[in-house]
Amino acid sequence: MNRPTHFPIVAANLLFAATVVLAQRPIEPGAQETCVACGTCGSMILIPLIFFFALNIALLVWVARDAKARGMDSAVLWMLLVFFTSFIGFIIYVLSRPQGNVVRCAYCGNNRLQVSAKCPHCGNA
Ligand SMILES: [Zn+2]
Repeated sequence: MNRPTHFPIVAANLLFAATVVLAQRPIEPGAQETCVACGTCGSMILIPLIFFFALNIALLVWVARDAKARGMDSAVLWMLLVFFTSFIGFIIYVLSRPQGNVVRCAYCGNNRLQVSAKCPHCGNA
C-alpha cells in the first residue's frame, strides 16, 4: 500500500496469471472426458472470476474519473483501495469523497465539481 508505483506491476502479474490459467486446458485426444469435466469445472470458476475482475476494473475506472472530477489528489490511493477491497473500498470512497453535483466544465468539457473554485482539468473558474 505504501508503494503506489508497484500498482501496474501487480495488475500485469494478475493478468499474466489469468492468461496462464486459461492456457492450461488439456488438449490431448485421449483425455476427452477429463477435458470436458475439467473445462466445465474451470468455466464454473473462471467465468465468475473474469466477471468479477472486469467489474473491478470498471469500478477502478469510475473511481479514477470521479476522483479527478472532484479535484482529489489521492485518486491513486483510492484506486489501490478499490483494487484490493473491491466493493468495500468503493462504498468507503462514495461515502468519503467530496459531496456535491458534478457538472461539465464550460471551458474544457471535462467533469468538475459544481462548487469547486476552479476546474481541476484546465484551471478555469
Ligand atoms: Zn475545465
